[in-house]
Amino acid sequence: MSFYDDNADLRWYVERGIDWARLLPHVELGGLGPAQAEAGGYQSVEDAVQTWTEVLHMAGAFAADEIAPRAALLDRAHARVEDGELVSPPEHDQLFDAIAAMGLHGLCVPREFGGMNAPLVIYMLVAEVFSRADVSVMTHHSFHGGIAMALLMYSALEGSTTFDPDSRQILSTRWSKAIEEIAAGEAWGCMDITEPDAGSDMAALRTKAEQDADGNWLLSGQKIFITSGHGKYHFVIARTEDAKDPDDPFAGLGGLSLFLVKAWEDGPDGRRIRNITLERIEEKLGHHGSATCTLSFDRCPAELVGQRGEGFKLMLLLMNNARIGVGFEAIGLCEAALRMARSYAAGRRSMGRSLDRHELIADWLDEMQTDVCGLRALAVHAAFQEELTQRKRLELRYLVAPGSAEAAALEAEVKALTWASRSATPLLKMLAAEKAVEMARRCLQIHGGAGYTTEYGAERLLRDSLVLPIYEGTTQIQALMATKDALLGLLRDPKAFVRQSARASLDSRTHRDPLYRRVAGLRLAALQAQRHLIQRIAGPRVLSLPQTPLARWRDRLVDDWDPRTDFGPALLHAERLAGLLADAAIAEVLWAQLAKDEGRRPILEGWVERAEPRARDNLGRIKHSGERLLARLAQAPAAEAAK
Ligand SMILES: Cc1cc2nc3c(=O)[nH]c(=O)nc-3n(C[C@H](O)[C@H](O)[C@H](O)COP(=O)(O)OP(=O)(O)OC[C@H]3O[C@@H](n4cnc5c(N)ncnc54)[C@H](O)[C@@H]3O)c2cc1C
Repeated sequence: MSFYDDNADLRWYVERGIDWARLLPHVELGGLGPAQAEAGGYQSVEDAVQTWTEVLHMAGAFAADEIAPRAALLDRAHARVEDGELVSPPEHDQLFDAIAAMGLHGLCVPREFGGMNAPLVIYMLVAEVFSRADVSVMTHHSFHGGIAMALLMYSALEGSTTFDPDSRQILSTRWSKAIEEIAAGEAWGCMDITEPDAGSDMAALRTKAEQDADGNWLLSGQKIFITSGHGKYHFVIARTEDAKDPDDPFAGLGGLSLFLVKAWEDGPDGRRIRNITLERIEEKLGHHGSATCTLSFDRCPAELVGQRGEGFKLMLLLMNNARIGVGFEAIGLCEAALRMARSYAAGRRSMGRSLDRHELIADWLDEMQTDVCGLRALAVHAAFQEELTQRKRLELRYLVAPGSAEAAALEAEVKALTWASRSATPLLKMLAAEKAVEMARRCLQIHGGAGYTTEYGAERLLRDSLVLPIYEGTTQIQALMATKDALLGLLRDPKAFVRQSARASLDSRTHRDPLYRRVAGLRLAALQAQRHLIQRIAGPRVLSLPQTPLARWRDRLVDDWDPRTDFGPALLHAERLAGLLADAAIAEVLWAQLAKDEGRRPILEGWVERAEPRARDNLGRIKHSGERLLARLAQAPAAEAAK
């Protein structure tokens, strides 16, 4: 059995959905053909896709035959700390030895470093099939290849990578050895951001990095909840400067820098000399195959990544990828919940019929199926856009002449791709994580009393799902990001907004395809919500224009916004607006698929049928609720200041 082969919707993307011919030239920079095939590359697009299909088949079989049967055991057999080192259950180590032996840690890593050079999107699909077996195994797996690719990306962006434009091969990077170790399955890394008093609020981070007299960076502080924090390579975000006042560019997020810290050095006698102290691992509700660590740093040697003050920006680049990864992780769990629920409902009889013939349960199962397909459409779209963004950003730096027309065109393309990826990612992370919880809960409920026992594993799915809306930025933070981007976009280019609204309105009434009219209707609802919120927020500013000098009007209307204080109604309704945006985005991605395959129409029909009442509800609430609460909160700042 393979969790890839038995999933027709997933296979559709590899076989028809993904535009490999567009992506491949940016993955295989040396081109395609007999010479390239001889050197480990591919003869043709079909040749490449066949290889990746085999990889997916293998990963799917491993997930079905090796990971899934051990999921209950991994849930019970917890890791522990002994003599300052983490000891995993042997079953966990065996799985990861097998993943290393299959070469999957180096799946996306370029061949120059011992990897397979597969597209990132293939890595994401592997993440989904692994997650269907056990989300926590997928999580730990992702801190291998994901960190290797981050090392490569950061080195390339800061300019410490050397590239041969003739052979189109990477000659070296600042962290070649680390990347090779990870690709070989000998090491992994992690992302150390959260601190005891700073989670969502990264501006409150206090871990500090200072330079000694020789300019070496030394890092001190504590990080908590670090997934796979027993790894060797740590990306750590730390404060490099105390702000002098709130206007200092180093205040808040601007004072953060990114560092690479090695958790230990290998001593001459083969023993580890630890730089980072592994204090403890958390006792958690679920997700037990993934260790969550508390770490302390006491003047640890650290390498600055990029420039001082770039930490937040660089971390966001890594997080965009990671959030798409969580999207696929959530979809894997949704798929597991759907299949478990469906199989139980088909076998269990109640009141003369199997459960799946009862309308109410059939409705749940139908909605779960529709949601999985819709989420996967958004996830593959986001991954594709993100991959093209990253690859073309590097081509801009290394492959085209600066200042040339080609560079200008590529720059414009990178900008558009960045925007497409950036707008899809928080919607995916938010919706997929929330749906995973909803589906795991429904799966448990469909199992009745048996779901509440450990017999079927439905309760494990629910426990595992609950972390998805928390890590890599909570659901609320994703909703706030999506809302902020949408509204600032409107303020920056109101004409484009008016054009989009007119188009959506026209299409919703007159498009030749009735189904597209409904897709446009969803987009129109999202635009109407944005217009309502902006009118609500900007109204007082417009009224203040007569007292503002004409030369300052633009600043007043476009630039002088503080999203923390000025956006009250938008912050209040952020999850509803993000819900509208996600429903519309998924409908549009599914609509675009019809150009390739009319057979996808029923999926879009199902999505639209489910999304329309949600959109009406969200829009209605945005327009007609919240004033009372906002008025109460407006009186609260004095009380807050007095705390
Ligand atoms: C299993 C697990 C693994 C993790 N792995 C990592 C890791 O590898 N690396 C790492 O650095 N961190 C990791 N984390 C930490 C995780 O990223 C944080 O828990 C998360 O960012 C939330 O931060 P917090 O826990 O401090 O909650 P808070 O930030 O205190 O938030 C509490 C609640 O308030 C909401 N909230 C906060 N601010 C706002 C706002 N402005 N508007 C509306 N709502 C708001 C949040 O959505 C949340 O619901 C992990 C956490 C867990 C549980």
